[in-house]
Amino acid sequence: MTEEAIGQTSSVTWSDPLRAFAHRYSYVGVLLTSILVLWWGIEGPYAIEWVAASLQIAMILLILGLEILIPFAKSWGDIRNLTRADAIYFLLAAPLDQLQIFLLITLLASTQQYHHYVQVFDFWPSGAPVLLQLLLATLIVDFFKYWYHRWTHTVHLLWRYHSVHHCLDRLEMLRASYFFPLDIFVTVGLGTLSMLMFGVPYKIIIFHNVFAGITGLLNHSNVDLRCGVLDVILNSPGHHRAHHEVDLRGCDSNYGSFFNFADRIFGTRYLPEDQSTLRVEPLGLDESYDFPDTVLKQLAVPFRWRRIHREA
Ligand SMILES: [Zn+2]
Ligand SMILES: [Zn+2]
Repeated sequence: MTEEAIGQTSSVTWSDPLRAFAHRYSYVGVLLTSILVLWWGIEGPYAIEWVAASLQIAMILLILGLEILIPFAKSWGDIRNLTRADAIYFLLAAPLDQLQIFLLITLLASTQQYHHYVQVFDFWPSGAPVLLQLLLATLIVDFFKYWYHRWTHTVHLLWRYHSVHHCLDRLEMLRASYFFPLDIFVTVGLGTLSMLMFGVPYKIIIFHNVFAGITGLLNHSNVDLRCGVLDVILNSPGHHRAHHEVDLRGCDSNYGSFFNFADRIFGTRYLPEDQSTLRVEPLGLDESYDFPDTVLKQLAVPFRWRRIHREA
């Protein structure tokens, strides 16, 4: 790897107190705040879809601010470098995410009496504390999502559309929604179905899905977040940055969602000791790909594969 390939990451110690505080506590702060708000949301007096939407908007604004305050890689930029494709993806994907959550919540709430038809296992501890149920649900979903994500990299037909997510040449929160629509649909659908199979109550399913959306934003953000000991158990932003590297060890690693247990069990976890050595440019796909840069053309990628990828 050449010096130019490594690029400039923020390996500096943030010296002014505000930046140092944000660097140290933002990751754990966003996770804890989201859990507490959603927990209150499913028990509290307001409709969960409004609580979820308000939380997501607040987190989007917070992360956009953090990208300006403490960027991980200055060359990746922030909202001030927004391209037209970024704006279109975000404006399409953010309302679609909201619609998806709204529809999912409505669907799950109105079909509760039928959930037992898809339930395969009958040992869910419905009387256990909410956070324990969330933890269990997340562990189950992670296992299913791990294998789906891994297969999108190894099964040719699935890679045709997952490659749209990997055409990103830099990571920032507004690009977290860069997915072929089927990819998001299968990911969320598979997670929801796996929870229904285990008899997870619908409120916990909603809790999990909204929380997973927020961790997805963090994992794609250009924020220099210190995760500390959480790197040991979570698939933190450093892990996901490694997953987006080109032709380096990270690119066939870190398929997990929230926890990194599945990657540890199946031998695909990778995080360098010094995260400032993570390659920041170029990210994306190697030179055998000729990817279009407009949204419409990217949506046609799976159907025009021979023009997109030159086989070696
Ligand atoms: Zn991937
Ligand atoms: Zn990603």
